[in-house]
Amino acid sequence: MLGAPGSGKGTLTSRLLKKVTQLSSISTGDLLRQEIGRKSSMGKVAEEYIKQGALLPDDFMAKFVTAELGTRNWLNNRASFLLDGFPRTGNQAVQLDNELLKHDSRINLVVELNVPPEVILERIDNRWVHASSGRVYNLSYNPPKVPFKDDITGEPLTKRSDDNPEIFKVRLDKYFEQLKSIKEFYQQQGVFSTVSGDTSDIIFPKLLQLVESKFT
Ligand code: AMP
Repeated sequence: MLGAPGSGKGTLTSRLLKKVTQLSSISTGDLLRQEIGRKSSMGKVAEEYIKQGALLPDDFMAKFVTAELGTRNWLNNRASFLLDGFPRTGNQAVQLDNELLKHDSRINLVVELNVPPEVILERIDNRWVHASSGRVYNLSYNPPKVPFKDDITGEPLTKRSDDNPEIFKVRLDKYFEQLKSIKEFYQQQGVFSTVSGDTSDIIFPKLLQLVESKFT
């Protein structure tokens, strides 16, 4: 799943997983934030990049994702899985392809979420998260039941440090800079689709249809 920060990748992934039960997912952003929370050595490296809105180096990310796929044994089990936030550069796409080929696998669907930038900026302003679970709330259209508290644990919600306006602009620019090469790579493989809309409610049925078509 490809999409600018704030395009709804996390929200749409969790909706998708409820409907398509064969599917599992990983979000590289969530995993990195967990490493930061654990204060692991990987987390310390990740924190430096994330707080500046920069992308982590491709080799670091390729190793990180390969290790995660290995731990979950998805490739050996030929599981169906969704990657949220990876690949994020053309180089990562190539590295992922090489890793999958070792297991005789391929990415069979890449979906770009296309949401207007003005909608994204408004969302980020209203985005609050429950850091340890990755649950995301929006104060205007998906507010928590108790203001600023997670619905499940009751723990306080926080703002992501990289959601401040200056850092966010850097992240948005980086996304569009990299999108072209990733798009070309997957278009050549014939697996690239775009779904457009202002809200996740508009995008979700289109996304679901695309994903379900891979299971029938
Ligand atoms: P996200 O939650 O997907 O917006 O990711 C948050 C931050 O984690 C990004 O701004 C990057 O700093 C880092 N990150 C996540 N995924 C990747 C990736 N595939 N390549 C490089 N950096 C990443």
